[in-house]
Amino acid sequence: MTDILDIAATQVLEQGEGLTEAQVLEVLQLPDERVEAALALAHDVRLHWCRDAVEVEGIVSLKTGGCPEDCHFCSQSGRFETPVRAARLDIAELVEAARETAATGATEFCIVAAVRGPDERLMAQVRDGVAAIRAAVDINVACSLGILTAAQADELQAMGVHRYNHNLEAARSHFAAVVTTHTWEERRATLELVRERGMEVCCGCIIGMGETLSQRAELAAQLAAVDPDEVPMNFLDARPGTPFAGMPPVDAPDALRAIAAFRLAMPRTILRFAGGRELTLGDLGARQGVLGGINAIIVGNYLTTLGRDPQDDLDLLAELSMPVKELSRTL
Ligand code: SF4
Repeated sequence: MTDILDIAATQVLEQGEGLTEAQVLEVLQLPDERVEAALALAHDVRLHWCRDAVEVEGIVSLKTGGCPEDCHFCSQSGRFETPVRAARLDIAELVEAARETAATGATEFCIVAAVRGPDERLMAQVRDGVAAIRAAVDINVACSLGILTAAQADELQAMGVHRYNHNLEAARSHFAAVVTTHTWEERRATLELVRERGMEVCCGCIIGMGETLSQRAELAAQLAAVDPDEVPMNFLDARPGTPFAGMPPVDAPDALRAIAAFRLAMPRTILRFAGGRELTLGDLGARQGVLGGINAIIVGNYLTTLGRDPQDDLDLLAELSMPVKELSRTL
């Protein structure tokens, strides 16, 4: 049998065709001593198909906590006893956060709300917030507001929202073990609405929620089928009070295999390091990731956990001679 990394060198690196589900599974099953080779190939794929720039994004939570949904990993669900307290930001705070994010060199600023989907009050706040940011700060605005109706997707597009985030989170076959208050199909439908309106699609996942390796491969294939512009890869950072509180962190070699495999499944996507990476990979993880297929990072704090100091990441990119992607002036 031909080695999966040899196959990937031709199929993915040369031809730009992502690995299939079965092939992703082979990468996820590579022995530890092949992990470095898998990461090196993933890095070459990223450099060839995405170039060397690294996209930097900041996120801010417009509405934190008190969500009616029951995503078992999420400390913002109002159904679990977690230390997260409900909070809302006003427009001035939002603009200030966008300004601080732009000052780090970031090109994307994502407004996030912990909701099933936006109600009229939240849409009005987002409308005012996006207009205020666009008037004051030179940065692309992205939103993550949950499940959308067609009319809401129209409205976000009309506001000039550049990218919409809605994560599939888990493989379709594993979803019911993670969330019971909405379906994988509902999440998928929102992604279609976003795509149809020409906004960039950002669709991420969480690794380490009790899925099998086959389900991890299934997830990679289902994400690739969405053809997302960006995929934030999270590793479960088990939050106290949530149903997944007792889950162990993903082992570092498994996390690295997943990074390489997801890059090989999606050669052209922006693959972003999101939450949980410090826990799984430690400080070294940033280096291994950006030399193993990752080409985007979130600066500063994640939504409910503390990230690394943004300057550490920016220093690392400078040390590795990887330029921070610049804002497209055509927008
Ligand atoms: S992941 Fe989103 S929808 Fe699910 S509980 Fe958390 S905030 Fe709510």
